[in-house]
Amino acid sequence: MLDLTMQTTVLKKIWLSPPHMGDNEQAYVKEAFNTNWIAPLGPNVQGFETAIEEFVGNNTYATCLSSGTAAIHLGLQLLGVGPGDEVLCQSFTFAASVNPITYLGASPILIDSERDTWNLSPELVEQAITDRLAFGKKPKAIVAVHLYGMPYKIEEIHAIAKKYDIPVVEDSAEALGSSYNGINCGSFGDIGKLSFNGNKIITTSGGGAMLCKYQSTKDRAVFLSTQARDNAPHYQHSQIGYNYRMSNVLAGIGRGQMEVLGDRVAARRNNYQFYRKQLSEVHGISFLEEPNGAYSNRWLTCILTDSYETREALRRNLEKENIESRPLWKPMHLQPVFEQTISYANGVSEDLFKRGLCLPSGSSLEIEDLERVCQIIKNGLK
Ligand SMILES: *Cc1c(COP(=O)(O)O)cnc(C)c1O
Repeated sequence: MLDLTMQTTVLKKIWLSPPHMGDNEQAYVKEAFNTNWIAPLGPNVQGFETAIEEFVGNNTYATCLSSGTAAIHLGLQLLGVGPGDEVLCQSFTFAASVNPITYLGASPILIDSERDTWNLSPELVEQAITDRLAFGKKPKAIVAVHLYGMPYKIEEIHAIAKKYDIPVVEDSAEALGSSYNGINCGSFGDIGKLSFNGNKIITTSGGGAMLCKYQSTKDRAVFLSTQARDNAPHYQHSQIGYNYRMSNVLAGIGRGQMEVLGDRVAARRNNYQFYRKQLSEVHGISFLEEPNGAYSNRWLTCILTDSYETREALRRNLEKENIESRPLWKPMHLQPVFEQTISYANGVSEDLFKRGLCLPSGSSLEIEDLERVCQIIKNGLK
């Protein structure tokens, strides 16, 4: 028999960045069932792509795919990256920014960050390009990331890319709803990509989109992502393709999520404002401010502490109270798998990784949740 005196209160779990559904996702999914469009094409895929294109603007075409990783893979291939090529890539990121370079038999060259946005250091990008040119090897592409939603140094990076005539793959996985000088992230690169993984600002449970500037590029992406089937009544193939298209069921979730994207960005930015107000007075804690012209969706609110030890103590305190937080991304040039990879490091991302912590940042957080998190952090620093 249940002994009521033995019951302990289980503290409500606070997740780092959980999914947050709106009102219409299920209706779109139901429509897919009702019309039997349970396929990797259909009206929801088209509807989701149109919604993305209208939101991102700036002459952008969207192709919905099974993941953001697939979008980078296809995008690099469409830019002509192949065996033996070199691709510059931001080191301070999630592994999925880099891995697709290796799928194509090319080699990543990892580039460290600057302190204003935590993204690609323009100086190191240019140094890497001139170095590689001196070796007789021109990089085939630059993968630039808007980490945690903060736009990278758009003007500087794109000026360098233009100067050396190298295309940019813009990893906007964490930056849907972010912008620079009023232009949306995802639309700056020759190829852009979004992710709708479960922890992102909007989600289809899993999924992504490749963004591009020309209808012809989109047509190629659709062709390659649906097994590169030639135009014939039988199954005929002249090229290697992939099974990368998004399902019409999941695109239904995406259509519903696009209707609430504005609210999700506002909620995440409010989280950031709340934390900053509560914690910026606390000794040894700092935040990443928006540089001039930058508008961040604040996908995750990150704090910097004064040391690795403080960061770990805070993370463990939160964990004890059933609250999920996470160290900043461990830079790729420090990952065992990329040990042998050429890198241009300046110590910035290593320092951010050691001292930085991502706080719970979901758009469904309540004020009480945010207060609970702040109280535990304050107590830990007393
Ligand atoms: C999530 C993420 C990806 C990968 O997207 P998936 O949809 O999970 O494949 C790539 N780059 C960054 C920076 C991400 O945060």
